[in-house]
Amino acid sequence: MEYLLHLSGRNHNYKSMNKKHIEFMKLAIKEAKKAGQKAEVPVGAVLVAKSGEILSLSHNQVITLADPTAHAEISALRQAAQKVLNYRLLGTTLYVTIEPCVMCMGAIIHARVARLVFGAADLKWGAAGSLFNLAADRRLNHQMEIVMGVLDGECREIIQDFFKSKRT
Ligand code: ZN
Repeated sequence: MEYLLHLSGRNHNYKSMNKKHIEFMKLAIKEAKKAGQKAEVPVGAVLVAKSGEILSLSHNQVITLADPTAHAEISALRQAAQKVLNYRLLGTTLYVTIEPCVMCMGAIIHARVARLVFGAADLKWGAAGSLFNLAADRRLNHQMEIVMGVLDGECREIIQDFFKSKRT
């Protein structure tokens, strides 16, 4: 699969951006807000099949489940894999509000997700271009398309508001 990197700051013309990306990212944002309501860091994810069918919707629940692996992306992959009874999620697109971390990128690669669409970059943990770029590492036998910056302002704001409210 060809690796395409849409550099942050260059692909911010939403009118020309795939309408589907915005539609699904809005669902991921809804999920992120659910996490925030549970005092979890607000990150949401949606996994979509090639047909356009939504396979799973999830949000970060590490505190609720006392599980360090309960990131939105991991939960989305788990639910979808159970649904299709296959650990490989070929042809799928994962929408996530924040750039996935190292753990999640590992799982995304294992699942053979075809495309990753994320909102805001995560300079501290991001493994899809910020801190690491596992999606472009030719030593791994799976490369995926990456689209970044979809509704990134909104995605970032949810996180920033969350931490701001925690401080006050
Ligand atoms: Zn993660």
